[in-house]
Parts: sequence; structure tokens; C-alpha cells
Amino acid sequence: MILDGKIAIITGASRGIGRAIALTLAKRGATVVINYASNAEAAEETVGQVRDNGGRALVFRANVANPTEAGALINTTLDEYGSVDILVNNAGITRDNFIVRMNDDDWDQVIGVNLKGAFNCTKAAARAMIRGRWGRIINISSVVALAGNTGQANYCAAKAGLIGLTKAMAKELGPRNITVNAVAPGFITTEMTSGLPEELKEKMLAQIPLKRFGKAGEVAELVAFLTSGAAGYISGQTIAVDGGMTCI
Ligand code: NAP
Repeated sequence: MILDGKIAIITGASRGIGRAIALTLAKRGATVVINYASNAEAAEETVGQVRDNGGRALVFRANVANPTEAGALINTTLDEYGSVDILVNNAGITRDNFIVRMNDDDWDQVIGVNLKGAFNCTKAAARAMIRGRWGRIINISSVVALAGNTGQANYCAAKAGLIGLTKAMAKELGPRNITVNAVAPGFITTEMTSGLPEELKEKMLAQIPLKRFGKAGEVAELVAFLTSGAAGYISGQTIAVDGGMTCI
């Protein structure tokens, strides 16, 4: 149980990749805080799955784009458990459109959740990690941050911003024994990707050397490694989990 005694907050853990990360960290001994925005039923299901496996979990609703709610997520964790050791900034949304048709709201919401959400949570959690002289922060970016994608100017900008945030935080927080890394998933089967047109999915598949879409658990395994003591000398990096689609 390499994460025994560690307290981990995973934003957007009610479904998809966030849920898989929560289950994987809990299986390694971490106590997990399951954050979600609106789908309480799914969040409770994640908590149930953690507990069924013998793990410890707390659920907390917060819109990470809102600094007050993100602060409450961190403070409630501190009140309940006394520390925040691991923060996984996973919460994300898409509002796809061509740039000429993209309205301000599509832009603001995507930047707000994907990028500002990570800033809000990191700012609040970093104070606690500095006090504890240990920390692991993982930002869930995307391969589109590196390669770009038609119809996703807002999402690509937010995810590329996360890579810059990762590098800056790695430099700023490294002297306090806190590592900060980004994980860039490729095409992973979740609710986020299930609604995409079949034609687009086939096009994507053709670009993946491993000839299959990824599983949420495969992203979670990398996150678990990066949170472990074994990854203590890795910081400021962006690592893709994409079946070989992007070579950074
Ligand atoms: P998903 O299935 O759509 O789940 C999104 C999660 O984020 C849900 O738990 C949702 O909570 C939560 N969320 C949304 N807005 C939030 C907010 N304002 N505050 C707090 N939580 C919020 O997505 P996914 O595919 O698992 O993606 C997870 C992360 O990986 C995202 O950052 C995504 O951009 C990134 N990613 C995904 C892929 C992929 O192929 N799937 C590829 C690259 C990167 P509710 O259930 O309450 O709505």
C-alpha cells in the first residue's frame, strides 16, 4: 500500500478518468476525496466502489471554476483529515465549435473549468502541502494541447495552459518537496468521447499506432505512479497516454 496515510483530492471524480484515478489511488492506500459538479448519483457510486474495495472516501460537490467553492473543497478536506498530500486536477469539460462560431460563453466556461479550476485548487492546496513539506500535483491535460484539434480552440488553449501552469508550479513548489506533472491522455473511452460521431472516431483510430482507444484505468495507472515515492525525482513533465498517437 504505497499511498498509505496519504490524502488525495481528485476533481471531477464522479465519472470517467477521475473515477478510475480515485479507485486506483484508494486501492494503493490513499484516502480519496471525490469531487464532482452536479452528478451526485455518479459521485456516490464512485464512493461506493472505493468502499467496496475496502478504501476510504469522502464526497464533496464544488464547481472548481469558482474560487470560493474550490477553496471549500480543500478546507473541508483539511478539517476532515488534517492534510492534503495529493491533488489531481482532472475536472474538465468541452464546448466544441469552429472559432468563427465559438461564443464567449463557450470560451469562458472551458477555460474556467479546465484551467482556472486547476489554478483555484492548486492555490488552495499548495499552502497545505508547503506546511506538510510533501506534495504531488497532477494536472490532466490532453494530447490536443500538444497537437491542436479542429473545433477545440478553447479546449486546446486550456489544456496547453495547464502544461505552462505545471512547469511554473514545478519550479515554484519544487524547493518545498512538491512535484507537479501533467498527464496528457489521447482518446480515452468515457462519457466525454462517447458522443462523438462514428466517422470522427474512425479517423482518430486510424492515427493511433496501437489501433484501439485507451481505457480510463490506463491513465489512472500513470497518475498513481506519479503520486508514489518512486516518482519523487520527476517534476515539470508532461507524459502522454495515447497509444503512441503523439510523439512529444
Ligand atoms: P467526463 O467523463 O466527461 O467526466 C468529467 C468529470 O468532470 C465529471 O466527474 C464531472 O462532474 C467533472 N466536472 C465537470 N465540470 C466540473 C466543475 N466545474 N467542477 C468540478 N467537476 C467538474 O470526462 P473524462 O473523459 O473522464 O475526462 C477527465 C479529464 O480528462 C478532463 O479534464 C478531460 O479534459 C481530460 N481528457 C479526457 C480525454 C478523453 O478522451 N476522455 C482525453 C484527454 C483529456 P459531474 O459528473 O458532476 O458532471
